[in-house]
This record gives sequence, C-alpha cells and structure tokens, in this order.
Amino acid sequence: MSMVETNYEVHDTKVLNWAKEIIEGSPSEQLVQQEVINAVERNAIWRGQECLNLLAPEAPTSPAVRRLLSAEVGTRAAEGHIGSQQRWFAGTKYIDEIESLCIELLKKVFDSNYADHRLVASMIGNMAVYTALTEPGDDIMTLSQPFGGHSSNRNDGPAGVRGLKVTDVPMDPVELEVDLDKFAAKAREKKPKVVSLGASMTLFPFPLKQMKEIVSEWEGKIFFDGAHQLGLIAGGKFQDPLNEGADVMTGSAGKTFSGPQSGIMVWDDVNLTKPFTDTIFPTLAATHQVNRVAALAVSCAEFLAFGKDYMEQIVTNAKALGNALHQRGISVLGSDKDFTETHQVILDVKRFGGGYEVANKLAEANIITNKNLIPGDRPEDWDYPNGLRIGTTEITRKGMKEPEMEMIADYIDQLLNNRETPENVKLKVLDMTTSFQKIHYCF
Ligand SMILES: *Cc1c(COP(=O)(O)O)cnc(C)c1O
Repeated sequence: MSMVETNYEVHDTKVLNWAKEIIEGSPSEQLVQQEVINAVERNAIWRGQECLNLLAPEAPTSPAVRRLLSAEVGTRAAEGHIGSQQRWFAGTKYIDEIESLCIELLKKVFDSNYADHRLVASMIGNMAVYTALTEPGDDIMTLSQPFGGHSSNRNDGPAGVRGLKVTDVPMDPVELEVDLDKFAAKAREKKPKVVSLGASMTLFPFPLKQMKEIVSEWEGKIFFDGAHQLGLIAGGKFQDPLNEGADVMTGSAGKTFSGPQSGIMVWDDVNLTKPFTDTIFPTLAATHQVNRVAALAVSCAEFLAFGKDYMEQIVTNAKALGNALHQRGISVLGSDKDFTETHQVILDVKRFGGGYEVANKLAEANIITNKNLIPGDRPEDWDYPNGLRIGTTEITRKGMKEPEMEMIADYIDQLLNNRETPENVKLKVLDMTTSFQKIHYCF
C-alpha cells in the first residue's frame, strides 16, 4: 500500500486558488453565479469568435443543436429501453418518439441494422464493447499512442479496467498504416478476441478487410473505434467499417460528426444486440440526457442533407493545408501520399522545439492546436512529444476553403520561423476570423 499524500491534487492549484478567492471574496452567491457566466462569455468571445480553432476533436454545432441542448426535455428521467413497458418511469411517450427518431436516423446515416444513442461519451461506448465482447484476462490488440492509439483501448483506459492483455497492432512508421505481414504473424500468435482500430491521430484508412479475414481464423472480432472519423464515415469520405467487416463501431458525436459531445454505437449482427444493449442499460447508462439525444437526432438529419459536401470540403481543406505547409518547408507527415485522407494534418515540429512549445506559441497568436505523439516518440517524450496535430473541421464549417488554407499556412510559417511576432499574427487572425462567423452545412 502506498501512502496517500495529504495535499495530493491533480489540478493546477494556482487556478483552483483563483476560484476559491472569487467564491470567498464575493459578497453574494448571485455574484458568484455571474462569475461563472462571465467566464463562459470570455471563452465564447475568445475561442468562439477570435480564434482559428484547429483542434482535431472539436466541431462547431449548428444553432438547432445548441438550442436543443438547453431544452426542457433535458430535465426528464427516462432510464431503460424505448416503450412504456421497458421504462422504469411513466410519462415518456414523447421521449420515446425523440429516441426512436434518433435511433432510426443513426441507422440510416450509418447504414446499420442497430444503433444506440445512450452513450454520454464515446469512452463509455468502448467500455460497453469490451464488457460485452471480452472476459478479464483476454488478449486484445490495439494501436499504441505514438501511432495514434487512444487510452480508451489501452491499459490506462476501459480495456485496462476490464483486465485485458493489450498487444500493439504493428504499424509501418513510414507509410503510417498497419504493417499487415507483421500483424498477421502477431495476431496468429496471440489470437486476440478483439482487434481494436481506434486512432486519435488518423491520416489513412486501415486494411480492415484483410485484418478481418485473419482474425476470422479464430472467430476474433474487429472493433472500429471511429471517434474521430465518424463524420467522414457518415459523409462517405472514409472507409465504411461495418461494410468492410467490422463487428461494431463506436464514435464521438462531437468530433467530425459535429453534433453534441457524446458517443454512439452501431452494429449489424443480431447476436450482438443483447450483449451490447444489456451492457449499455443497466450497466453503463442510466439518465442518458434526452436533450442531448434530441440534438444528436438533429445532427443526423443535418448529416443526411449536408454531410457529403461538408466532409468533402474538410478533407480538401486538410490536403490543401498539408500541401501549403509542406511548400513552406515545414515537415508534414504523409507528404508522399497527399498528406491525409481525413480532417487531420500532422506536423513534425522537432526542429521548432517540439509540440508543446509550438502549440503554446501558436495559441499566443490565437491559433489553437495540440501537441501530439508521432512515430519515433519514446515513452519519455510523452509530455513533450515532437508532433503537432491540426484539424480542419471547425474552419470548414465556418466556411473556409482552399485560399484560407494558404493564409493559415502563412501564419504558422511566420510564427515558426520567427518572421512575425505572435502579436502581429494575432492581428491578422482577428481580421480573418471576423469574416467567418457563420455556421455552414446546416438548415
Ligand atoms: C476522442 C476519442 C475517444 C473518446 O471519445 P469521447 O467522446 O471523448 O469520450 C475514444 N477513442 C478515440 C480513438 C478517440 O480519439
């Protein structure tokens, strides 16, 4: 047993103390309330209006989605499955309608036989998959973090909580794709019950059909964690995992899918319906936020109408931005493969001081990105990796196209090569963002 430190705190105590002072120093609770509202407003102005938001997991939601997130139905309790006999609570007839619309829309968007709408986070969807498909001690194979893997499929996430033994899916560090020969050898040795394809850093598709053929030798399952690519899949701009042999797909509704932050799950096999739904309710979801479900249903409708054009422009913009940065001498991953087939562009910024340094410098000029592990980064590089991840979802939904990608590449180049001060670039960013405030690809 380890000793518990009396003052152990994961958060930055300077900021916590700032809050404590506000709460203690305010003459009334109403003023404390106002402080919260003010902080939200400060963020809405800065991040919402004055920044170039290039964070890959973010997307701006439509006005309809935002309205629904504060709807009355968000105060209602509706545990269980749709239909009065399947609910614990009475009074759910309109909630049943909302949830049915959401499920049927999800099935239509993802062309699946089944869908679930109750996952308040994609992370919980991954927990549901592991709970339903594995037993503690089982072997699984997943992507390591330097190749884009996410904690939800690793030892420090749901897979670890389930007690699974995690082996890396072998990746080719040059092609940035699965090394199929090495995978076949490793998989035949381990015979994993599940192979998870979950990538937070994602540039190119997976050889899913071939991987499915291999794991079928021992009835292994393929789990596609499409957190990032969900919108691209719905818009037909990425591989279609269920169609290519994945047994189940989860995804984040708030990343490229551009809906309310939460999770979804889709699958085709009738035999998986009971294991999955038994795990979702009553195990991992109870009050599942019906306001969010309504907003998710609306984002599905938006996708059916605008998804194809929206996602196409996202990928076009990402390729244009990758190319524009490459032209300016900045090291972009996948430069011999047209840079990307997704919303992401990944830079190797080692010679500019690494991802942490660069992300902070760009943020001084109102350009928001994140540091990222890239192939070659070692465990000790975790906090100061060499990569920088850029996403084009938000700037695309705000109406930017190829000419704006050239401008953004100029700003990044000016900052990295110290040709302009962050203050000067910030002025240019402010000028640019004023013309791109409207949300596109919605009714
Ligand atoms: C973001 C992400 C998740 C978690 O999704 P949330 O909706 O944030 O819970 C899971 N897997 C991958 C690969 C991700 O990138």
